[in-house]
Amino acid sequence: MGDAVDHLVDGRVRSAHPTLMSALLNGDSNGFFYAYVKRESGEDLMLEVDPQKGEQVLLLRGGRLEGQKTQTVCQFPEATDLGDSVPPSDGDRNPLKIEAYRIEATIEKGLGFAAAATMRVTGRRDGVRWARFNLFKELEVDSVVDETGAVDTFFRASKSPEVWVRFSAVLQAGETRSLRVVYHGDLITFGTLGRPTVQRRVFTPRGPPRGTPIVGDPVGTSQWYFMRDPNTWFPRLGLSTYGASQPADMDLTFHAPSRYRLASIGRLVESRTDGAVQTTHWVAERPTGEASFNVGAFDESEIRDPRIPPVTLQVNTEGHRALRAAGFFGGLNPEGDVGADVANSLGFFSQAFGPPLPHQFYATEIPYGYGQAFPGLIYLSLVTFQTVNESGTEETFRAHEMAHQWWGIGVDAATYRDAWLSEGFADFSGLWYMQLFLKDNEKFFKQLDDWRRDIRARRGDIAPIGLGTRLIGTDHPGDYSLMIYRKGAWVLQMLRNMMLDFRTMKEDAFTAMMQDFYRQYRGRRASTRDFQRVVERHVDTPMDWFFDEWVNGTAIPTYIFSWHAEPESGNRYLLRLRIRQEEVPKEFVMPVPLSIEFADGGRATIRVTVRGPLTETELHLPAQPSKLELNPLNSVLGEVKAEGWK
Ligand SMILES: [Zn+2]
Repeated sequence: MGDAVDHLVDGRVRSAHPTLMSALLNGDSNGFFYAYVKRESGEDLMLEVDPQKGEQVLLLRGGRLEGQKTQTVCQFPEATDLGDSVPPSDGDRNPLKIEAYRIEATIEKGLGFAAAATMRVTGRRDGVRWARFNLFKELEVDSVVDETGAVDTFFRASKSPEVWVRFSAVLQAGETRSLRVVYHGDLITFGTLGRPTVQRRVFTPRGPPRGTPIVGDPVGTSQWYFMRDPNTWFPRLGLSTYGASQPADMDLTFHAPSRYRLASIGRLVESRTDGAVQTTHWVAERPTGEASFNVGAFDESEIRDPRIPPVTLQVNTEGHRALRAAGFFGGLNPEGDVGADVANSLGFFSQAFGPPLPHQFYATEIPYGYGQAFPGLIYLSLVTFQTVNESGTEETFRAHEMAHQWWGIGVDAATYRDAWLSEGFADFSGLWYMQLFLKDNEKFFKQLDDWRRDIRARRGDIAPIGLGTRLIGTDHPGDYSLMIYRKGAWVLQMLRNMMLDFRTMKEDAFTAMMQDFYRQYRGRRASTRDFQRVVERHVDTPMDWFFDEWVNGTAIPTYIFSWHAEPESGNRYLLRLRIRQEEVPKEFVMPVPLSIEFADGGRATIRVTVRGPLTETELHLPAQPSKLELNPLNSVLGEVKAEGWK
């Protein structure tokens, strides 16, 4: 029992498994099952059935990383749910459905933060007495009151993000209740660089390993505004470790000193100044699980172009001036460069995919090493305003965060397994923007090459894209960004080149497919299977093999290529090709482009279906070939080696 409890209870933060706690507190048989298996040889294992998870059945083992209680070995839905057309998310299984938030927040002159959040919740099952919320641990709860004025009690351990609220009256299935949580604390601070960065949120931030830690300013002259928790600055219902939150209506009002600039999500419906206080009122245009804001003494620049919705850029100009004075080298016009990429990528993606959901955009600077996207609001790292970067990663970073307005916000990933539909798509979009809009082929192919090298280096010992955010909890946390972001982008690059018309070099077929996917799922959740069905409609053939190999599999092929050409009658040439395929299962198949240059100056590109360990084929050519390139234009995430003809 001791070992079992040890894995169910986290003593450091005085927190117990939420579904177990929910059953105990509500006196409810909610179906939670847990077995601790001690083995004579081999490590101990836990079998868990958690009815509050989208996929309820889990096999666990002890955690291997610091602070990690358990690690998931495997996880899957109950058999009764296998027929569901849309897989449920973790939020769908919470005993409470959150309908709406109305938050009124005040930021004091000294940046002190206080707020009242009114939430409307509906019971999904009978007898809900206690509900678990998450709130940034530095924010202190003052009171919880329901709509009748009755005081709800709550429990919170010191320095724990968990807040357990006990309703004054039990909630039944279908019953709706409002509750108002009043809280305050040090959410926003002002100071010099060098603080630790906040915990990354999984679905929206840029991933590691850009590895640009925020450089401390040793002179300490530059001052910055730190929004310490952009995700749980308001009480979140059942926000799981990996960020699956329930979408809700959002109505946000902020009172802040008028010398500050504030940006939030959705539409700014009202802005007024009373003396030294500016009040702004923001309303999300549709239910969302992603709501945040940023505040500071920023300079604002407005980008107005009839082709795109209005964009406002917020920069801590004073902070950058002090950094430059302290000897940090910034670009000549960083605000201009960043603003250009934000506006240009907004225009480019609107053309490429279709209109975004939000009607206004704020891009605001944060003194951390990451970025994050919310509906109509983008956080950009101060690094991107400071770095003169030759590799193109800054341009793609800015475009990546903008691309989330389509992938992640416009079309939401259905479950944890579909995270690549957000991050991989955003990474691809950023690269695509660099290649087509900034017209930088060299950097485009260089990034694909770099990512291929990193993916290949881990190929023998990594989980597939299809395990989604579960890659974060593995022994190699860097695998998450490598597979979900980098390989995810590569998967789209492969589909793109499979659909490329090599005669005209037009990619209309790919663009039409992406537009179709976006149009069909705009404002909804989509799964990998949903995306596969759209691809299949556009290529007019089953694509299970492709998704099995590249999304659910981890093998990366090596092609060993040789060829031989000899004249035949009528000035024609017989070309013989041999491709040996290694490091993949023997049924692994992929159409690989082959470009042929002719001695007379012509060129052609064909596709060779490479299947199994040995592919041999013959072609009759109209002229003498002088040079052959297998896998041009980084069409396939494989490596090509040459060998002599024998
Ligand atoms: Zn991202």
